[in-house]
Amino acid sequence: MNIHEYQAKQVLKGFGAPVAEGVAITSVEEAEGAARQLPGPLYVVKSQIHAGGRGKGKFKELGPDAKGGVRLAKSVEEAVAHAKEMLGNTLVTKQTGDAGKQVNRLYIEDGADIDRELYLSLLVDRAVGKVAFVVSTEGGMDIETVAEETPDKIVNVPIDPVQGVTEADAKALCDALKLEGEARSDGMSLFPILYKAFMDKDMSLLEINPLIVMENGRLRVLDAKVSFDGNALFRHDDIKALRDETEEDAKEIEASKYDLAYVALDGTIGCMVNGAGLAMATMDIIKLYGKEPANFLDVGGGATTEKVTAAFKIITADPNVKGILVNIFGGIMRCDVIAEGVVTAVKDVGLKVPLVVRLEGTNVEKGKAILDQSGLDITAADDLDDAAKKIVAAVG
Ligand code: GDP
Ligand code: MG
Repeated sequence: MNIHEYQAKQVLKGFGAPVAEGVAITSVEEAEGAARQLPGPLYVVKSQIHAGGRGKGKFKELGPDAKGGVRLAKSVEEAVAHAKEMLGNTLVTKQTGDAGKQVNRLYIEDGADIDRELYLSLLVDRAVGKVAFVVSTEGGMDIETVAEETPDKIVNVPIDPVQGVTEADAKALCDALKLEGEARSDGMSLFPILYKAFMDKDMSLLEINPLIVMENGRLRVLDAKVSFDGNALFRHDDIKALRDETEEDAKEIEASKYDLAYVALDGTIGCMVNGAGLAMATMDIIKLYGKEPANFLDVGGGATTEKVTAAFKIITADPNVKGILVNIFGGIMRCDVIAEGVVTAVKDVGLKVPLVVRLEGTNVEKGKAILDQSGLDITAADDLDDAAKKIVAAVG
């Protein structure tokens, strides 16, 4: 689960990290009052969307010469003028795709005078089996570009899970970021704070780009992107409350209600599969035969008819879906349950696109009989290869 920058800063502030004062607003009327609460004379007006690259982003409605999604203002009036231009418009960044995202919320923040912009993130480094800091003196820009062009400028510091951030780790991070004086002592206390926040809240990513050294020599968290491990959310009601469903795919929200592992994709073939490995293989073979999957969907092992029905409805409701492939290997899952789910769902919502079904495993004969007797227009397939060929041909 992702949250907004202003929420991430609230969370980090709770652990003692240095962040600027700021006020989140959702209407132009609130802009002046928000800015007046801040000390000034520099303000920053920041679009709150679940995507990065906002500063370099462009508003669809404003033309190529207008300023981006993160703007500096030297007066309250200027901050209000920016808010008027930004709210309600669609911001397109490197991460939003061409459709962009509507900016429904702004964060007005006390502006900082920046000396240096640094990069810092915390992530789960699976290669070493630890949580690791990734830092670079080249902050503020695309870290992917830094990684490609000057990989030696990125330093990785894995943290021992038993010891946590040791003094030696903190020093190594300070050295890598070339922190001196007050910024160095700020760093020595900040790094353990960030690690604690990451662990306590079950984050999967904490990215601060940039972490800045201000002209007064102090450190500040200027931007913050945080993602949480969805499987651990049950123990963080405070974090769950930060969820902004307007930022998420409606189909994924619906799927999460039924506990379905579902990810919306850009292709035309809807897939209903059991088991993540089989789902991946199904997506691969669709690609092999020249089409793209419209989704990843693992209905899981012990799925009920209701769950299968819900899954099928989510797939058919997607206007991009031009054909559906049901690919089930009944191990724990029973083929007759899948068949019943498909039939129930089709009777409810109709079937406007070709449907290919491949069933194998437990109760396969029962499952096939249910489909045969349903009178639905279903193409049966014998194996994975046959199924992929048939659905790709049917979609044309
Ligand atoms: P992003 O573009 O979505 O990554 O948004 P950021 O929060 O990282 O802001 C983009 C850029 O705006 C930063 O890299 C800074 O250069 C600039 N910026 C943001 N806040 C301030 C500020 O308080 N003072 C100054 N001088 N620049 C800022
Ligand atoms: Mg940034």
